[in-house]
Amino acid sequence: MIAPFTHQSLPMRVVFGAGSLARLPDEVGALGLTRVLVLCSPEQQDTGERVARALGDRAAGVLPEARVHVPVEVAHRARARATELGADGCVAVGGGSAVGLGKAIALAHELPVVAVPTTYAGSEMTPVWGLTEGGVKRTGRDLRVLPRSVVYDPELTLSLPAGLSATSGVNAVAHAVEALYAPDATPIVSLMAEEGVRALAAALPRVVADGSDLDARSEAQYGAWLCGAVLAATTMGLHHELCHVLGGALDLPHAETHTAVLPHALAYNQPAAPQAVAALSRALGGAADPARVLWELAGRLGAPRSLAELGVREEDLPRVADLAVAGGSSYANPRPVTRDGVASLLHDAWAGRAPAGSQWGQPRR
Ligand code: NAD
Repeated sequence: MIAPFTHQSLPMRVVFGAGSLARLPDEVGALGLTRVLVLCSPEQQDTGERVARALGDRAAGVLPEARVHVPVEVAHRARARATELGADGCVAVGGGSAVGLGKAIALAHELPVVAVPTTYAGSEMTPVWGLTEGGVKRTGRDLRVLPRSVVYDPELTLSLPAGLSATSGVNAVAHAVEALYAPDATPIVSLMAEEGVRALAAALPRVVADGSDLDARSEAQYGAWLCGAVLAATTMGLHHELCHVLGGALDLPHAETHTAVLPHALAYNQPAAPQAVAALSRALGGAADPARVLWELAGRLGAPRSLAELGVREEDLPRVADLAVAGGSSYANPRPVTRDGVASLLHDAWAGRAPAGSQWGQPRR
């Protein structure tokens, strides 16, 4: 029997396909926007300017100031710039940092955002915003920040370096993994999550082997879209909480942290999430132990598999475990979160060993 569920679709358009940047002016025009501010990271200023050229008269300017986790001072400057230029909307081109800056402007000024994603992070599909002040990141959900239209052009991902392609792709897989055991998953969410994992697991080795393989880039971005959509639709669990705590407390890089933690958080939850394990097994070619397969995949992709590699010290782990357990009421997890369990999985992630239980097929005690 199908369990009862409530499914809410979000009001947004998705335009997908190689060359679809050419459709951006029509997307902006369909929203009635005539003066948009183009947002990007400093490293992607060229891409931002290319997008502004594609927009022609509809571009009011380019602000290449997006930074990871949206520092509040950058948000203030961007809001002021939007006002000064009389912008009536924003086009955010880049990864989660650029999209996050667009959301920060939308939150304050209600300007519509059009997103042109160039990583696999998935922020463009969610109504979740984040702002960082004094080292503390606040997040919230607000439909006003949800991009109205998302233009996925895999050609714009050709320049994403192999390392970031791998970790950003695993970051997307993490959204789907946690969606599969989320309390608010629906049959549609589960289908999308499974297909997202399948597409990314198939595409990422090809992307890393040859970054100019447009077919592989296209499949990876299709997977990332699905993973972003299920992130928006569900409540994330222990894995996302651990990455949030690690990122905030130790200022770690976002996608790399997800990559090192995911196999261990999944191994912790697998015994309590049989349907998610079955879906992940199908997505990963029949694997009996998806956590182990994701750990091996990260190794094949040459991605960091240990928190130690990211600069975490062993003595930092108890504080991270305390914070993750203390935040336990703010997230959903299929398996009760215990201090010992979290400490043990963090230690495995720190050391970069194979996830617990996977060698012997035994669930963690
Ligand atoms: P990012 O946006 O910080 O980008 C990382 C780097 O890659 C930047 O230097 C950027 O300029 C560069 N880059 C991006 N695309 C490129 C390309 N195609 N070619 C060459 N260089 C490229 O990284 P991210 O992982 O996409 O985003 C991380 C941020 O997004 C974090 O702050 C995270 O919290 C947030 N995020 C938010 C949500 C949400 O729903 N709100 C979801 C996922 C991530």
